[in-house]
Amino acid sequence: MKIFKVASMTAAIALSAQVAHAQERFITIGTGGQTGVYYVVGQSICRLVNRNTADHNLRCTAPSTGGSIANINAIKAGDMDMGVAQSDWQFHAYNGSSQFEGDGYDKLRAVFSVHGEPFTVLARADAGVSEFADLKGKRVNVGNPGSGQRATMDVVLNALGWTMDDFGQASELQPTEQAAALGDNKVDAIVYTVGHPNGSIQEATSTVDSKLVNLTGPEIDSLIADNPYYAKATIPGGMYANNDDDTTTFGVKATFVTSADVDEDIVYTVVKAVFDNFDRFKGLHPAFANLTEEEMIADGNSAPLHPGAEKYYRERGWIE
Ligand code: GLU
Repeated sequence: MKIFKVASMTAAIALSAQVAHAQERFITIGTGGQTGVYYVVGQSICRLVNRNTADHNLRCTAPSTGGSIANINAIKAGDMDMGVAQSDWQFHAYNGSSQFEGDGYDKLRAVFSVHGEPFTVLARADAGVSEFADLKGKRVNVGNPGSGQRATMDVVLNALGWTMDDFGQASELQPTEQAAALGDNKVDAIVYTVGHPNGSIQEATSTVDSKLVNLTGPEIDSLIADNPYYAKATIPGGMYANNDDDTTTFGVKATFVTSADVDEDIVYTVVKAVFDNFDRFKGLHPAFANLTEEEMIADGNSAPLHPGAEKYYRERGWIE
């Protein structure tokens, strides 16, 4: 009898665990390479969400991916629920313009924006590159296909009247590979649209004498004037080894996006996890330190806000 009782209790516990497990809902956030900041955005959001899985049954994972364009495409395909994407590619994906011409995604929804991402060029000190124009004929890592920086690089080249053929070599290494390639003299320069500080530029500048390169001029001024998602950007001096001066360039914002097909309560729960624990979130990466709620819910978001996000912002009195 005793044995039977224990067995049935075990069965009951197993059954209730199974029920809880069955109710658990998994969400996936697309990020970027592990040496970038998107990866930390996704991991940080998931960490805050997963603290309360017992209450809301959401379990969040944030694998590394190819970056902005890959994330938007994965959301569109229903393979991922949410993702991080540059503000320029959020705009183009929603509006079906630029690289998304004829292939737009009008169900793309903004959740919030995060840190600024300067278009960053880092060249070996021995490469003789003091401005962007000096990259002509050089070996440049333009970024992996699927990344935002690769796509924004195309925009820059187009604005300057250049093509990839103007480089001696245009390689498509992943962000995690580019610092070593620069250090090993396989490339003269790397290009990365990314928040600062980040692991990739840190690794590169501490391995090899290398300099951040300014990107300015009338063509860049026009890009900024003509497009709401571009702005002037500065990489502060002193952040990386041997780079004591400010670097002037242009940039975008990292944004957090989802699909209109994702349930309101899921997006609400994720947004609540971030903003109910905002100080904790800001402490998870130096690039988040100066974030403000006001800017995050307004700047860089060109797709409509997801209703789950709107619900939370309304509750907090941040929007009407
Ligand atoms: N902005 C880059 C992209 O869209 C990713 C930067 C990062 O991983 O932090 O691909």
